[in-house]
Amino acid sequence: MKWMQELQKNVTTGEELACCFPDIQSDRRTEEMIRKYPVSIPAYYLSLIDKDDVQDPIRKMCVPSFGELDLEGDMDTSGEGENTVLQGLQHKYSQTALVLSTDRCAMYCRYCFRKRMVGKVAEETAVDRESVYRYIREHPEITNVLVSGGDAFLNENSVLQEYLENLTAIPHLDYIRFGTKTPVTFPQRITEDGELKELLCRYGKKKQIYVITQFNHSREFTEQSEAAVKCLQEAGIIVKNQTVLLKGVNDSGEVLGELLKCFTRMGIIPYYVFQCRPVTGVLNQFQVPLLRGYEIVEQAKNMQNGNGKCFRYIMSTRRGKIEILGKGAGDNEMIFKFHQAKRQEDKGRIFVRTLGPDDCWIE
Ligand code: SF4
Repeated sequence: MKWMQELQKNVTTGEELACCFPDIQSDRRTEEMIRKYPVSIPAYYLSLIDKDDVQDPIRKMCVPSFGELDLEGDMDTSGEGENTVLQGLQHKYSQTALVLSTDRCAMYCRYCFRKRMVGKVAEETAVDRESVYRYIREHPEITNVLVSGGDAFLNENSVLQEYLENLTAIPHLDYIRFGTKTPVTFPQRITEDGELKELLCRYGKKKQIYVITQFNHSREFTEQSEAAVKCLQEAGIIVKNQTVLLKGVNDSGEVLGELLKCFTRMGIIPYYVFQCRPVTGVLNQFQVPLLRGYEIVEQAKNMQNGNGKCFRYIMSTRRGKIEILGKGAGDNEMIFKFHQAKRQEDKGRIFVRTLGPDDCWIE
């Protein structure tokens, strides 16, 4: 397929990085870093980077730095291992099943919370898909499935069709979601593949299909990425967005506010703004303290109309998705609420914590 050939041209080696970015050396240390956490940058996404600016936010999201070798943090901050019921299938919240359909992505984001596996190992992905479908069929409490990865749209169309054929036939599923960043990093996967659009159109008539994508900066909205979003919308897909709050990328009220405005303009539903997780190789580079994060989110919200405010600022933890609701009465007090909980006793629970200025996470 043409899109697969196109991906072969991605920047993946130290030598190629050094050709694009004069400040990067093609040496043993760079190659070691890439071996640990693979690099893959599509030509399209590369073209969005201001090559003269080492602090460019688009660059920060895709070009590696030695900070990734920092060992602090955790590789599985939201307890994905303990929620895995079959290889490649997680069942944390009773109504939702999550499928890790591939370990491949068009681009490997430097802040990825699945850094332990993306582009590296297929041990966590769903190889026995028949067992996955059987598990979902046998659990009527599951009302929706998120097919993710990696990037769900890095699967061949025949695999996507198989997911759609099986999942749309399960009566207790209300809808199906695909997690893909291709509209942002590799829009031609959508715009230049008529077969994919036709599949989504066809199966969307059986059950509602959502695409969950991840724009993090307004500069990612281009003629090409907007065309990809429009293409999905024309196929009847509801496009939702999850942004990650990232130091040096979108950690100002103005930058985040401009991004949120793009969503309402494009008819994309802003779903979550995620607190960046304390992942090894990520936290020291990208996490924003919670007190500061709350201020940024509030400032960004104040730039929106009602539609632009319909997202939640969320931490995805082992016990569930916790919303950062607002400031408490005391100094540095923050109010939190379980938006999704693994345990019954946590459902809807509200609690208060006093935070230090550098606290980026709570346990
Ligand atoms: S597209 Fe998603 S899964 Fe892939 S590297 Fe980026 S954040 Fe991780």
